[in-house]
Amino acid sequence: MGKHNIPKMSGISFKIDEGDTFDVINPEGEQIADLVAFTQADDDEKFSQSYTRYLSSLRVSAGDSLYTTEGNPILTILKDDCGVHDLLYAPCNEWLLDQDRYAGDAPGGCRENLWLSLKPKGFDEADIPDTLNIFQKSTVSEQKFMNVHRSPAEPGDTVTFEADQDAIIAVSSCSAASESNGDELTGIDVVVPDDSTVHEASVLD
Ligand SMILES: [Zn+2]
Repeated sequence: MGKHNIPKMSGISFKIDEGDTFDVINPEGEQIADLVAFTQADDDEKFSQSYTRYLSSLRVSAGDSLYTTEGNPILTILKDDCGVHDLLYAPCNEWLLDQDRYAGDAPGGCRENLWLSLKPKGFDEADIPDTLNIFQKSTVSEQKFMNVHRSPAEPGDTVTFEADQDAIIAVSSCSAASESNGDELTGIDVVVPDDSTVHEASVLD
């Protein structure tokens, strides 16, 4: 297994075979990592945030599967140190990060970084689905709004995923400079099988 660092405000993509595992690690804590997945057999079949809510639950953790647009399991969580992840929010992006609630001046966010890391594999930006937001804490108010809170992830918290089928994965270190990512944006580590080809990219490159 090889460890790769996703620098802050960046993305990484890799292929994984059925039955293999990978880890997403929060080296410094309080940092969100967005994840998308596509089946190798059909680029149009991909992780679905909404069908995962429907078929699994709103709060996935160890033992839960992530599902595709066709209702097939694509990843299963084997181990989860944090236990707090979000399946409600869309990935941050250029126009969201322009809002006053975010500090900094990012030229793009998770959606762009996930896409740029997948671009060498032939994906377009419009192919990027809504994400599993690993280590993100969200709640729903009694009225009608979603709220995001400081990530509870501790330094070293790890989530281990097993591939239920041959898949293409992308993970980003979230670019939203707000309390949800702690006091400052940091990187994310991933540990993938040695034979995986990894592409890293960022709007900052
Ligand atoms: Zn983000």
